[in-house]
Formats: sequence, C-alpha cells, structure tokens
Amino acid sequence: MFSHLVISIDELWLKGKNRKDYLRSAVDHVAAVFKVYHPDKFTFKIQSERLYYSSKTLFSEELIKALTCVPGLAYISPCKMLERLPDENLENVYEEIVNGLSIMDKKSIVFRAMVKRVDKNFSQTSVFIGREIGHRVITRYPLAKVDLKHAELVIDVRILPKHISISTETRKGMGGLPWGSTGSAVTMLSGGFDSPVASFLMAKRGVKQSFVFFHAYPFVGREVVTKIKNLTKELAKFQRQTHLYIVPFGDIQNLISKQCREEYRTLVFRRYMIEISNLICDKVKADSVITGDCIGQVSSQTMHNLHLMDLVSKRMILRPLVGYNKLEILNTATAIGTHDISIIPHDDACSLFASKNPIINPNMEYWQNWDKDFDISAELAAALEKTEVFSINLQGEFYKKEYFSFDA
Ligand code: ATP
Ligand code: MG
Repeated sequence: MFSHLVISIDELWLKGKNRKDYLRSAVDHVAAVFKVYHPDKFTFKIQSERLYYSSKTLFSEELIKALTCVPGLAYISPCKMLERLPDENLENVYEEIVNGLSIMDKKSIVFRAMVKRVDKNFSQTSVFIGREIGHRVITRYPLAKVDLKHAELVIDVRILPKHISISTETRKGMGGLPWGSTGSAVTMLSGGFDSPVASFLMAKRGVKQSFVFFHAYPFVGREVVTKIKNLTKELAKFQRQTHLYIVPFGDIQNLISKQCREEYRTLVFRRYMIEISNLICDKVKADSVITGDCIGQVSSQTMHNLHLMDLVSKRMILRPLVGYNKLEILNTATAIGTHDISIIPHDDACSLFASKNPIINPNMEYWQNWDKDFDISAELAAALEKTEVFSINLQGEFYKKEYFSFDA
C-alpha cells in the first residue's frame, strides 16, 4: 500500500482549447471517488497535467480499483516519493528500487525502466538513468530480464523539482474521455450480453448515461428486474451517479400484439421502446439513445430495420456494437464483470409475443399506416406514470426509489 498516487489523463493532447474542461471533469470525478474510498485528509496538486495525491494514511486497494473504472484516466500509479539528494545524487533512488523488487529473487520477471525528467534542469539524461536502473536490478537479481517492448513490470521514475517518484505497480486506467465530457444518453438495457457492453464502450468515450429497461410485467415476473439491477450496479461504477428507469411494458405489448400483423410485432415493440426512451431523454436532457444493436445479429437488426428505428427517434441512436463479433462482445462482458450476470436465463416477453417469422423487409405502406386508427398515447402515459426510477451511487448502491414525473 502507498501514500502517494500519480494519475495521468488520457487523450488530453487531442483536446486543444477544451483541455482545461476535460482536466476539470476528470479531477472532479476522481475527487468523488476519493470522498467515498479515502475519507482521510490528503493533498492534491496538478503538475504537467498529471494529478498528484498524497496522504498521511495509506491509499487502499479499493480506492485504486475504483479509480481504474473512472473514464478518461490513462494510468494510476501508486508510488513512493523520495526527497531529492544534493548534487543530482540518485543513490537513494537506486537503493529503494532494488530493495523493493525482492520478488525477483525467486521469479524470472521481464522488466523495463521508464524515466522522465519533469525537471528539465536535471542534467543526467533519462536514457542514462534508465540504463543505470537496469544494470543495478540485473546485477542484484540475476533471474530478471530487460525487454523494452514486452515488459511485465515497468519501473516508472519521474524526476520532479523537489522529489523523485518511483512506481512499480502502475495500473492501466479505463482510458478515453472524462464522464459527461462528450454528452449524455439514455441507454436501453436489456438482460442480454450486448447492451451492458454498449454502455461500457460509450462510458469510455465520456458519455454520461441513464438506463431504461422495458419490463413485460405481468407477462414476466420480477426476477428479471433483479438481474437488470445487478447489471446496473456493475455499470454504475463507471459513472459518478446513475438512474435506472423500469417501464412496465407488458400491457402495451399485449395491446400491440392484438392490433398489428404478427411478423411486425418485434419491430413495433422496439419502435415504442425508442419513443419512450426519447421521452426519458426529454426528462433528463439527454442528447442520444444507446442500444446494444449489432448488424445482422437478429432480424430486427438488419440495416433496413435499424434505419426504421432511426426514423422514429428524435435523438441520434448510438450503436457502438454494430461492428462487433459476438465473441468480442462476450470477452468485453467478461472483462467488465457483466458476463456472469447476463448469462443467467430470464423470462423474455419479446419471445412470448414474437413472431416465428419476423419481417426483414417491411412494407413501408403497412409500417407507416397500421396504427392509423390505433391510439396508444393513454397507455404510454400510464406506463410512464408507473415507471420506477432508482438512484444509484458510484459504489453501485441503490439509495432511492421514486416514480417518474416530468415535473420533478
Ligand atoms: P442484448 O442486446 O442486451 O444482448 P438482446 O440481444 O436480447 O439483448 P435484442 O432483442 O437484440 O436484445 O435488442 C437489441 C437492443 O434493443 C438491446 O441491446 C437493447 O439495447 C434494446 N432492448 C431490447 N429489449 C429491451 C428491453 N426489454 N429493455 C430495454 N432495452 C431493450
Ligand atoms: Mg442483441
């Protein structure tokens, strides 16, 4: 455990004039994580666009783990901070590094040194210091090997104006852009593998999200809601604050099933899901809708049918999985912790109502006119009124439940 932490921000070099805002968003999100996982006193400064934290009490593994889920952070380095000795003497640094690597006594570890002079007045070059570190480590631990491209352990050394930081446990952050810095969305979350992965990919690009699930109650039970809540719990750790909307959708599906041609049902259900998602966007002032659609996965995801959904949506529909193969989706689901929740079977009303032969090439005249004498607005309003809204904090804890209202 460490009492110093250095965090670097991803993609700042791309941001031109917006740099300051991006940096501020990242700093605010990190501050919110510290508030929960390190309530003790700490000091903080920004130097060369890296964030430096130090505290008299040690930073916990939970804190560091939570920071790896903050969008926009490139690296999180728990480190030791040494005072600089006079005359550019680095003996204390070399000693600290070598002593801290006793694991190399027993294990052959491939490593490299990465040295940076933040203080450009320091006359020894980074290459020279890096070689010196490599030489000393190999001399002390004959099993160790240097490899600049494939190192499993990186010894990160920074020469700061008054101190020298050493880190051998740098964690890769989530990367991408800070939370909320690129806009906001309502994410349509079903119980499958795809939509949680779609949410993660957009979180990585800085999109702040609320979630919506269309619950076919009373045709399916409440168990699926527990599943959706568990998925939301996992996804909430990539955000500062999360809301989940559970819309009762069974009566609407039942009504539609009686009214439209069987092979059009899935598309029509999806159309109303998109419409309600847009209403929730109005409420939370979101810019877009996110779905887990993937080109060609099922009949509702042909290019043509996806385009029909674009036509009913007032907002842009973001579909980050369009080009993903199923295996790639499953691997990402495993990495973010949603796979083992998604794999649990759940009752699905879409399959209860769905046609055996869903339409692939809809007749546009029928699609545009089937609902001419069919007014569903009262049912949509009633569903929204009964929509449960849950609030979830960055630890994934559900702390509030209320009912949807446009006024609140
Ligand atoms: P997933 O795509 O999450 O694996 P799925 O494959 O069963 O689940 P599809 O029927 O392919 O879902 O639907 C495509 C997308 O439409 C989903 O990824 C999700 O974004 C949205 N969606 C479908 N059903 C629901 C629902 N009941 N509630 C919320 N969103 C839904
Ligand atoms: Mg799918």
